[in-house]
Order: sequence, then C-alpha cells, then structure tokens
Amino acid sequence: MSNYEIVIGLEVHSELNTESKIFCSCKNQFGGEPNSHCCPVCSGLPGVLPVLNKKAVLYTVKAGLACGCEISKFSKFDRKNYYYPDLPKAYQISQFDLPLCVGGGLSFTVDGEEKYVRLNRIHLEEDAGKLIHSEYGGGTLVDYNRCGVPLIEIVTEPDMRSPEEAIAFLETLRSVLKYTGVSDCKMEQGSLRCDINVSVRKKGATEFGTRTEMKNVNSFKAAYRAMQYESKRQIKLLEEGKEIIQETRRWDDNSGKSYTMRTKEDAQDYRYFPDPDLVPVVLSDETIAQLKNSLPKLPNERKKQYVEEYGLPVYDAEVLTKDKEIADFFDETLSKYNNAKTLSNWIMGDILRMLKEKEGDEIEIPITSDSLVELLNMIDKGSISLAASKTVFEQMWNTGEKAESIVSKLGLTQINDTSELEKMVEDIIKNNPKPFEDYKSGNEKAKAFFVGQVMKMTKGKANPKIVNEILDKELNK
Ligand code: ADP
Ligand code: MG
Ligand code: ZN
Repeated sequence: MSNYEIVIGLEVHSELNTESKIFCSCKNQFGGEPNSHCCPVCSGLPGVLPVLNKKAVLYTVKAGLACGCEISKFSKFDRKNYYYPDLPKAYQISQFDLPLCVGGGLSFTVDGEEKYVRLNRIHLEEDAGKLIHSEYGGGTLVDYNRCGVPLIEIVTEPDMRSPEEAIAFLETLRSVLKYTGVSDCKMEQGSLRCDINVSVRKKGATEFGTRTEMKNVNSFKAAYRAMQYESKRQIKLLEEGKEIIQETRRWDDNSGKSYTMRTKEDAQDYRYFPDPDLVPVVLSDETIAQLKNSLPKLPNERKKQYVEEYGLPVYDAEVLTKDKEIADFFDETLSKYNNAKTLSNWIMGDILRMLKEKEGDEIEIPITSDSLVELLNMIDKGSISLAASKTVFEQMWNTGEKAESIVSKLGLTQINDTSELEKMVEDIIKNNPKPFEDYKSGNEKAKAFFVGQVMKMTKGKANPKIVNEILDKELNK
C-alpha cells in the first residue's frame, strides 16, 4: 500500500450570496416553500430571456482575486447540454473555454509543512434544482427554488497527495471565500459542495493513473472518508492486476462506500456552445482594480500580523484567523484589552469550546467584546478567581447578562480584605493546635490543611494568593 501515491484534484462549487438569482430577479435564498422562489426564467419556460446579474460577476472576480487568479477581461457564457429533471431548460448556462478567472492557487500548511495547490480556473454558472425522493414510495418531487442560484466552480490542478492535504486545502478555500464575503460556504445547506477526483500510481511514476470522480460528498468528514475509501479500492484493483475504469461514482456516507453512477462523460458529450441569449462579459482594468482594493485582509496576511505584531505563537494565529468572525472578534476585543496571549487563550479555549457545542457550523458569538473585557479586568484585579470566572463566563454566554451582575448574584466576589482574612487565619490556628505543631516540627504539608480551612469557611472565595501570604507570616511567627 505504501508504495502507491494518491493523487487528488477537486471541483468545488460554492453558491454566491447575492440578493437575487443569476439570470432573473427571483430571491436567492436557502429553503422556503418548494417552488416559491421561481419565475418563467428560472423554471425554464420557453421564450424567456436571461439577464445577467452584475453582482454575480463581481463576486466571482472577487473570489478569483482572493485566490490569486488572473481575471479575464473578456469572458462568455456557454450552454452545457444534458437532460435531468432538476434542470428544466435541459441545459445549464456555464462557462466553457473563456472562464472569468484563470490559474491562481492557495498556500496553506499541513502538519507544519507549507503546501501550494494550483487552481486551474474559477467559472460562473447557474445552480440546478433539487430532487426530493419520497421515503414512502411516493416517487420523486422537484424543487426549482435553487435553479438559477449563482454558483462558482473552482477547479484545482491534481496537486494534492493525501486526503489530509485535500481537507486542509478545502478548509483554506472555505476560509478565504468566507473572508471575501461572496459565499457563506455552509456545507450542510449545500452552499459549498465538492466533487473529488482520485487516482493512484506507483511511487516515482511520472504519468498519472486513471481517475474516478466522486459526487454527493456533503461534509469534510465525508470527503475524507471518501478519499480514503476510493484510494484503497483503486490500489486493491491494481494489486489484483485489474484495470481502473474512468467513471463517476456516488459516495454513500452511510455505508462508507462509493458506487458506480455512470461512465465518465467527455466535454463533447455536453455539446457546449456559446449561449446566444447572452453577450460576452467585458471587464475594465478599473473595475478589477476596485474589486482588488475592496478585498479585506485575507487569512494568511492576518496570520502573519498576529505573529509579528501581537507576538502570538503560530498555532494561535492559525486558529484565530481561520474564521473571519473569530479574527474580527479578537481584533475588536484586543483594541480594548492589551494582553494578546491572555485573550487568545480565552478565545481558543472557552469561546471555541462553546461554539463547538452548538449545532451546525454557523459562528455567532453571543457576548460582546465589552462584556468579555469586563470579565478579564475583574480577573486581573483579583475581584474574582480564575475558577469562578469560568462559571461566570458560561452564564454570560447563555444568558447575555453582564459579568458584574452575575458575580454579585452568585456571590462570587473574591475576598481580598487582608484584615478579615488575617483574623480568620488566627482563629483557625488557635482552634487547630495539632496541625500547627506538625507544621512547626517541620511538616510543610500541614500548611495545606490551613489553606483548606480558609477556603471552606469562605466557600472558596478567599483570594488564594493573599491567604498564602498571611499563612506564611502567621505560621512562621
Ligand atoms: P473534466 O473536465 O472531464 O472534469 P478536468 O481535466 O477538467 O476534467 O479535471 C477535472 C478534475 O480532475 C480537476 O480537479 C483535476 O485536477 C482532476 N484530475 C485530473 N486528472 C486527475 C488524475 N489523474 N487524478 C486525480 N485527479 C485528476
Ligand atoms: Mg468535471
Ligand atoms: Zn426566477
């Protein structure tokens, strides 16, 4: 097995989050009553004409610029002809030989190693509808709401050499697309989908092996499993002296297997031709420059800033910049609280843990930067213990209440009053002569008994640092 190399290339589809669809004014919105966001254009009635949504073009260019692509100043739309019930026109408007974005690529790290995956192209097309298969033998229904949703297809070169690398690439791509704001990239809602091309070859071989393409991969976890399964299947075939057939396979995540769907179709099977209803897209240098200027700082750049400017470890910088929402929250909070590492620990630990407990991959932080800063200041001033702050934080997260009011409601304010604690320590020593003698005769551990007694009497609210100082003084008198 280890004398084979896996080769992976991806075709990633991402729905653009424009207000309206690509060729009509219907709402571009996930969900909704089936067939309620449709019109004669997107439901494919004869005699209608498509009108291109400018925003969809600009968003595609933005995605291309963020991925380092070259932007085509002249591109056009073509018809990709095939028949399937989710495609009412029996052709999909897509881009064939002149896509909006060409080349480019993304760099990222896998296991600390720097990788670069080249892109072949990014083109703009329309999404198809959705088939709903009845579980009760009631046949199949079709929902055209998704028909005509603007979709970009990002095609990579076959540059990935392991499932781990391919997943790291997908995560990087999702992060970059989300930073640009052109797509929300929700795999569970289908706004990010990918087809996976896999082949294997003997290590050291110069030619690629025959590939298969897998469809119906609905999560990163499924993608990883699909790549592992498919590469193993191919290696087994080769070891048995059999041939790999170039085909499209369907991944079934429940059984953990892929199944033949159809033998691979070639471009000529689609009878591509320029769409006669649409004029070519011509972009000026100014438009491209403007879009370039409108891009936010991208994850790699931000990562660099976190390391060089804020002095954070590379690991922290990577975790914090992966999602724009998190990085934005970090920056906003850091502008009011001047300790990057403490803040990073809270976000990487407590905040990411709370976010992970939620369903779905939507990132919504229910506390404000102000209220987090208030909590951090209370810890720094010693008005609550670190242990208590965790309880307070969870309550803030779940109820939206401010730290200060939770602390007073739960009576968690730390006791910092030295004279009050001194009196307590004196009493405890007086009432416990045996441990005191133990301590005096050299048993250092007896001190822990006194700390325990103070904590018991204060219900854990005594400031441990002050208690220790007082004990050192009183016990050694
Ligand atoms: P098609 O247009 O038929 O889908 P492409 O040449 O455009 O074919 O390739 C589609 C995808 O397949 C690309 O992501 C590419 O990187 C990938 N690919 C091509 N050859 C191989 C191979 N031998 N092994 C793995 N992936 C491959
Ligand atoms: Mg393809
Ligand atoms: Zn419509």
